[in-house]
Amino acid sequence: PSVPELEALQHADVARLLPVPVGESDKYRRGVVGVVAGSARYPGAAVLAVSGALRGGAGAVRYVGPGGEAVLARFPETLVHEGPPSGAGRVQAWAVGPGLGDGSWAAAAVADVLAADVPVLVDADGLRLLAERTVRERTAPTLLTPHAGEAAALLGVDREEVEAGRLAAVRELAARYGATVLLKGSTTLVAEPASGSASGSASGSASEPGAAPPVRVNPTGTPWLATAGSGDVLSGLAGSLLAAGLPARDAASAAAYLHGLSARLASRGAPVAADDVAAWLPEAWRNVVG
Ligand code: AMP
Ligand code: MG
Repeated sequence: PSVPELEALQHADVARLLPVPVGESDKYRRGVVGVVAGSARYPGAAVLAVSGALRGGAGAVRYVGPGGEAVLARFPETLVHEGPPSGAGRVQAWAVGPGLGDGSWAAAAVADVLAADVPVLVDADGLRLLAERTVRERTAPTLLTPHAGEAAALLGVDREEVEAGRLAAVRELAARYGATVLLKGSTTLVAEPASGSASGSASGSASEPGAAPPVRVNPTGTPWLATAGSGDVLSGLAGSLLAAGLPARDAASAAAYLHGLSARLASRGAPVAADDVAAWLPEAWRNVVG
């Protein structure tokens, strides 16, 4: 086949993808990202997702959820809202799910966000609250960011099966949901559905070889990222890049690249906290564009 199965994302590719504000830019034109994350049980997830979103190139971050107080205490620049996401005002892309729990507010918020006609990233608890059909019927892009366990649950298989066949799993998810899928883990993979497959209905509709673009492999990951909360930072970051106007595939792969690089820069061989990964994102960005 003429289309390779995999493509490694290169430094120069990411440099070209990252949004750069121009003279006429204002915060709305740079993009507003909405973050729906956190719960009474996991207020930190809201803070970490917002921390990633603030460093991803959007002009403003709106936070909607029960963790507004914790978010504002740490990031006073956040626009905080209560009530349903659809009442929060202008948002160019949503990142929904980290630490959200599975309460009735969370379920309604995920449904509300998926009904919006803008790009939506779904991660973590959000992935447990979405219906395959709802995602397939969306016309705006959807980006799912599961780790192996979450991917297994979405596919209805064991985690071991996903780990043993990560490439097949990420492609199958993209085909089934008609969504861009970023599969996290020791290697992060980004798969796109075959074009026009968004409403494929046959259950065996895994696309023909070559029909979908190559799966992107992120080369910057480090096992130091295997730390609580690092995925929440990635969600906010990728959501921010979506809001800045990147296509889902590019937002996902650029976010994975920056996230891994940031962890390396922060770590230099020592353990890092998710908060450090977020704090080093500007340095990772500079490293890419410099
Ligand atoms: P989560 O599973 O949502 O907490 O996200 C964990 C983050 O750490 C994701 O970005 C993963 O890709 C990354 N990660 C976890 N384990 C590893 C590993 N062994 N090597 C590289 N990256 C990892
Ligand atoms: Mg996670």
